[in-house]
Amino acid sequence: MTEVRKAELAASLAEVEERIARACKAAGRERDEVRLLAVTKTFPALDAALLADLGTLDLAENRDQEAGAKTDEVAELRPGNGIRWHMVGSLQRNKARSVVRWAAEVQSVDSERLADALAKASRSALESGQRDQPLDVLIQVSLDDDPKRGGCRVNELSQLAERIAHVGDIRLRGLMAVAPLGTEPAEAFERLARASERLREDHPNAREVSAGMSNDLEQAIAYGSTCVRVGTALLGGRGLASP
Ligand SMILES: *Cc1c(COP(=O)(O)O)cnc(C)c1O
Repeated sequence: MTEVRKAELAASLAEVEERIARACKAAGRERDEVRLLAVTKTFPALDAALLADLGTLDLAENRDQEAGAKTDEVAELRPGNGIRWHMVGSLQRNKARSVVRWAAEVQSVDSERLADALAKASRSALESGQRDQPLDVLIQVSLDDDPKRGGCRVNELSQLAERIAHVGDIRLRGLMAVAPLGTEPAEAFERLARASERLREDHPNAREVSAGMSNDLEQAIAYGSTCVRVGTALLGGRGLASP
């Protein structure tokens, strides 16, 4: 069973790698400018372990509760695995203490209150030895200014970035966005690229642009994505119950 699943994952990983390589070439970019983040949400810990065996060490989850248990399980399956876990889903402030236990990076910071809570949690995890590195964070940008979908509005970005830069114990690495439904993703990614350029004027180390998923990774890479977040194309469909 495990061998069959591993072969399946190896095949889809090769396809996704091929798509990324082709998109980089088309955009005149180097392959190593783009990280592949495998989004393992709703899939079992064994799948995450097998992806790590295949060399994919950047893994992502979108719910703290699911991720907390899964990351423990993967640590048991593959001790000392070298995996970096990323949180890409919307996050309540009261989950900050839990998320700093398992995540190297939170890509979905969209408010000063959440940034403050993560900074506080990161600080106490550093003090207690639970972490040896501060938490890396990306600001999630809303590209359609629809508050329901989460994300910081483009015109409020610089204020949030300042807060993160000054609060300490978390490190601002860049921006993340999900292309709005029902619009041309290229337009959204172009908007994100402009926001990233403006951000880097004041925060030169915030170079990460996390954009592109199974359906639109080519467009995202064309507009400068440095991190594609791929679930379905690697692991298969998640069914109707899970977003
Ligand atoms: C689920 C998810 C992805 C992966 O989406 P696919 O379309 O399955 O590749 C990427 N980013 C975020 C924030 C997600 O929640």
